Amino acid sequence: MEKVILTSNKEETMRLGAYLAKVLPVGSVLALTGDLGAGKTTLVRGIAEGLGIKEVVQSPTFNIMKIYAKYPKPLIHIDAYRLADVNTDIGLDEYIGYETGITVIEWPMYISSLLPDDLIEIEIINKGGDNRMLTISANKEILEKI
Ligand code: ADP
Ligand code: MG
Repeated sequence: MEKVILTSNKEETMRLGAYLAKVLPVGSVLALTGDLGAGKTTLVRGIAEGLGIKEVVQSPTFNIMKIYAKYPKPLIHIDAYRLADVNTDIGLDEYIGYETGITVIEWPMYISSLLPDDLIEIEIINKGGDNRMLTISANKEILEKI
C-alpha cells in the first residue's frame, strides 16, 4: 500500500519527519530513495527533531552510519552510498531494526540484502522549486498510523 504526501518547503518535510518519529513503532526501518537534493537528509532531520535529538543531523556519507544513542528512542542514520559495489558484511545488520529506536537508511539499494521484509519505503521526488512528492510504501498496519 502507498500514501502520497506533497510538501512545498523544507519545514513541511521536517514536520512530516517529526510526525513519523512519533507514530512509528520502535524497531521501524525506513528506506529513503530520491536523487541528490531530493530531501532525504531533511526528512531525517525532522525525524531526529521528533525524537528529541539535539544534535544537528548531517549526511553521514563519510561515516556510513551515525547513531544518536543517548535518547529514549535512538536514531540510527545509515547512508549506504559508499557501499556500492563493496562487501556490505560489516555488521550493519545489528543496527537495522534496532529494537528500541528508529533506523533510517539513505541509498538502501546498496545494502538490499540487509533490509527487513517490513521495510517502510519513502521515495522523494523533486517536483520543481521547493515542491516535493513523498510516496510512502508500507504494510497496511503501518500506513494506518501515518
Ligand atoms: P538529499 O539528502 O536527498 O541529498 P537534502 O535533504 O540534503 O537532500 O537536501 C534537500 C535540499 O532541498 C535542501 O537544500 C532543502 O533546503 C531543499 N528543499 C527545498 N524544498 C524542500 C522540501 N519541500 N523538502 C525538503 N527539502 C527541500
Ligand atoms: Mg542526504
